[in-house]
Amino acid sequence: MIYLKTDEEIELMRAANLLVSDTLAEVAKHIIPGITTLYLDKIAETFIRDHGAIPTFLGYNGFPNSLCISINENVVHGIPSGYQLKEGDVVSVDCGTYLNGYCGDSAYTFCVGEVKPEVQKLLKTTKESLYVGIANAVEGKRVGDISNAIQSYCEGNGYSVVRELVGHGIGKEMHEAPEVPNYGKKGYGTMLKTGMCLAIEPMINMGKKRVVFEKDGWTVRTVDRLPSAHFEHTVAIRQGKADILSSFAKIEEFLGEKAI
Ligand code: MG
Ligand code: MG
Repeated sequence: MIYLKTDEEIELMRAANLLVSDTLAEVAKHIIPGITTLYLDKIAETFIRDHGAIPTFLGYNGFPNSLCISINENVVHGIPSGYQLKEGDVVSVDCGTYLNGYCGDSAYTFCVGEVKPEVQKLLKTTKESLYVGIANAVEGKRVGDISNAIQSYCEGNGYSVVRELVGHGIGKEMHEAPEVPNYGKKGYGTMLKTGMCLAIEPMINMGKKRVVFEKDGWTVRTVDRLPSAHFEHTVAIRQGKADILSSFAKIEEFLGEKAI
């Protein structure tokens, strides 16, 4: 069952998503060597609650924190901990909020200090692939058009696409139908209709596509332990052009020249 949102609902979705974006921009200010990932999580939880919302991830299927923080070879769903960020790390921060009955979901991969050029290129390509996917998130296309655009772009740049985890519909629930894989065939899958809201989230590996699930029951990491990147926006389907409900503007305004 796919829920189409009214324009009013989409504005509520936008508010939840912009709060996620503001939270990520707040977290960005603290991404420096020596900071623990648990400290970043506390900043996010406080910020979200101070704005009258609930961190969606906290308690979701028993997840213990408000952010998923996944470093280097960890792809997604990393649990905040006492790990101290160090120069050269790349850090995927995934955040969700529940505000006025609707969910926001967005993620950004940050660099800690100086990061190797080849890893920066992985991040840049992954972020670009998100927008290549979004360019296909329009009325009349199909989910497979988004999937194929992301896959073609990333594989064309020599990277691989994680298969085990996918994007998703989003609304009153964080995860709704349909699934939005980052790989697939053009012209296949669910037809996109105005009012559908999708979280599109390429998870792209520098090396092989295979991943394993760590014993903590959450963290997903690459089998070959090469780095992975993850960027996510929530969008609403429209005619001609998707309406991107989350935003990287404040994050990148803060990062300035260091933005990927
Ligand atoms: Mg997310
Ligand atoms: Mg998501």
